[in-house]
Amino acid sequence: MTLAADLVRALPGLRASDDLAERVSYARDLWPRHHLSVRAGNVARAMPGCVVWPQTTEDVARLITFCAKEGVPVVPFGAGSGVCAGILPEKGAVVLDLKRMAKLRAFDVARPTVTVEAGYMGVPFEEEMNRRGFTLGHFPSSILCSTVGGWIAARGAGQCSGKYGKIEDMVADVELVTGEGKVRLLHHRTSESGLPSLVPFVIGSEGTLGVITAATLRLQRAPTARSYAGYTFPSTEAGWEAMRAAFQAGLRPAVARLYDPFDAMLARMGSVKKHGDVKKSGKNRAVGEALLRNALFGPKLLNELVDGPASPLLGGALVIVIFEGEGQTPTTEAEECQRIFERGGATHLGEGPARKWMLHRYSVSYRQAPVFSGGMFSDTIEVAAPWSKLGALYDGVRHALGDHVFVMAHMSHAYPDGCCIYFSFAGSAGDGDSWDEASEATYDSAWSAALAAAVAAGGTIAHHHGVGRSKAKGLGPELGDPGLTALAALKKAFDPHGIMNPGNLQPAPRPDPYAPAARPHKVSS
Ligand SMILES: Cc1cc2nc3c(=O)[nH]c(=O)nc-3n(C[C@H](O)[C@H](O)[C@H](O)COP(=O)(O)OP(=O)(O)OC[C@H]3O[C@@H](n4cnc5c(N)ncnc54)[C@H](O)[C@@H]3O)c2cc1C
Repeated sequence: MTLAADLVRALPGLRASDDLAERVSYARDLWPRHHLSVRAGNVARAMPGCVVWPQTTEDVARLITFCAKEGVPVVPFGAGSGVCAGILPEKGAVVLDLKRMAKLRAFDVARPTVTVEAGYMGVPFEEEMNRRGFTLGHFPSSILCSTVGGWIAARGAGQCSGKYGKIEDMVADVELVTGEGKVRLLHHRTSESGLPSLVPFVIGSEGTLGVITAATLRLQRAPTARSYAGYTFPSTEAGWEAMRAAFQAGLRPAVARLYDPFDAMLARMGSVKKHGDVKKSGKNRAVGEALLRNALFGPKLLNELVDGPASPLLGGALVIVIFEGEGQTPTTEAEECQRIFERGGATHLGEGPARKWMLHRYSVSYRQAPVFSGGMFSDTIEVAAPWSKLGALYDGVRHALGDHVFVMAHMSHAYPDGCCIYFSFAGSAGDGDSWDEASEATYDSAWSAALAAAVAAGGTIAHHHGVGRSKAKGLGPELGDPGLTALAALKKAFDPHGIMNPGNLQPAPRPDPYAPAARPHKVSS
């Protein structure tokens, strides 16, 4: 008997599959290190035993009760767009895909809130809210390929966080099926109750405490007016000082993005091109890739070049801001922002850069495959700190990464008290027989250095992508002993049998199934 057959027998009506193609598809999320492994022929070393598609909270509760009794690990799966290895199911685990749970259960115009099931995909959900005259205000760049449950489980942030906040600011109540299979409705009634709320514990729990089956989310009136502007600043620091001044003056641009000079140059060039825009012959492409691969083999030199002699050619830092709301308010706020920015040394560029960004806001990050197939890798890390520590965070993480990979940065989530820095990096181990192993070593060294530097600077290792397994090393140093003890106690309270996404969001992850010693592997049934 297979696990899927056991489940179907024990839980009639539940759709389950142990088809090899399904198990391979659900074996991982979009953690870029997976791509290195896949490139090395290691398609799915760790594969779940089966995949299930519950349709109701009752289905989830029955399934978890069964798994808790039998000791079967369960991994909740939204759309698999996570980038931190939050999904890496071990052999014999059940992957629970929530996407068939996508009903809108209730809409309360007076509050105003919506109660929605966890598997609702981002774009149709926001479109439905817009049809009713509202917005959630949560626009992750992955909105096309992520779910409401995944947003909450990973504690995400959208592009308009400056006005609407992060997902934790939008969640009122959560329906959770605990690791024991019990259905719990957790309330976060800020206006009614003085009791401690359990909701914040579940936000960011990354599938380790239970399954989020539905949530009640706070809504805002959909904006009817917007104001756009772009600015150049002589330096990245001048840019963030101006953003700080604007937020601390009470302004809340929905979008406020600052690009360092290299990232700004890419943004100005329009780094997004549709597939097929550039037609290169196979030979030209191979030459281009070899050149880039070898350039990235010496990242320190490249970083110094961009920071030093090449810096004046790049054209300074770029800031774009978008205000939204009703009537004249966005225009008035944008005018005040302009005054603050110009006092900080900005040159106003008109609406163009912000409008251009808006047009391409969801197409930025999907051109990864050519980098990997060309023998290189790329990734991102989003750290954050209070304004007083932002300079140390920027310098510390940038230099730590810069020894291993080519690095650039932008800041896309600002608040009155602090800001997130989003580093993008690319690396290579050059050519050679063992470049896959060497690439992995370079990749791992870059990550270790970045995590240590973020903690040393007094920042956080995760602003909105979650922790998963990729940042596990930084969890202990950032939370300290009381934090780790509290996490372990929560796990025991919600998931006493330890079946929920084992190995995730833990300071010492289980052995890496993609470790070089485990290779080569090919898929087998
Ligand atoms: C191109 C790209 C751009 C991105 N941009 C952003 C961005 O702008 N902002 C941002 O915040 N993130 C971003 N991300 C990261 C990712 O999209 C988010 O973390 C997203 O919230 C994950 O949603 P998902 O439904 O795909 O969850 P998954 O990847 O399926 O799961 C993420 C984690 O949550 C757990 N989980 C999922 N659903 C549930 C549930 N119902 N109950 C309990 N646990 C659950 C999983 O086990 C896993 O640990 C980006 C990713 C990509 C690939």
